[in-house]
Amino acid sequence: MAQLLFREDPYLKGCEATVVAVHGDAVELDRTVFYPLGGGQAGDTGKIGDWRVIDTRKGPLPDQVLHVLEPGSNPAAGGKVEVQLDWERRHRLMRLHTALHLLGSVVKASVTGGRINDDKAHLDFDIEMERLVKDAIEAQVNELVKTGTATRAQWITDAELDARPELVRTMSVAPPRGEGPVRLLEIPGIDLQACGGTHVANTAEIGLLKVMRIRSEGKRNKRVTLELA
Ligand SMILES: [Zn+2]
Repeated sequence: MAQLLFREDPYLKGCEATVVAVHGDAVELDRTVFYPLGGGQAGDTGKIGDWRVIDTRKGPLPDQVLHVLEPGSNPAAGGKVEVQLDWERRHRLMRLHTALHLLGSVVKASVTGGRINDDKAHLDFDIEMERLVKDAIEAQVNELVKTGTATRAQWITDAELDARPELVRTMSVAPPRGEGPVRLLEIPGIDLQACGGTHVANTAEIGLLKVMRIRSEGKRNKRVTLELA
């Protein structure tokens, strides 16, 4: 079980930590700034000491984070290490992740999936293709970016979440139950969703967005892909 520093402060770029276990090419730390793949958001990359981290995954235990090193790294347990995120990449993930919250509030339809990579991000909607107009969506999300609205986190219990199903837009990445308080991401006046990912502090920090493409991925999956302009 690691202390997940990115939960309280997504702007932490590094930390000191101790290697508590090694699983093949993956290293487990007592604390980390690395976000593990989850909720549609890609896992972080960066460095642990001299080792290069090529991906970050959740382990089988609660709050267990596996930092996947490039092959041949030969990590050892017990040592103190400097942990350093590839911050530029993570910041793009935070901007694109927050952009999806804006997109979800612009397109009034249920969300059937989503994914955030460091170069683009998409949501899938259960909607007719003709209701998705590229230029209109792009103009509306950019209007929301320009409002310069501060984002903020709140915490609620599983029971409170169950009583408010509207807080989970993306059922395919619904937050896990029984793991303590659930975090909500609030963009006041725009969006309020249960979300464990990393977000920027203000919508203006996203910068302008482009709708890269809109295409059908199936009857209930109409995919809108955004990129940073
Ligand atoms: Zn989010």
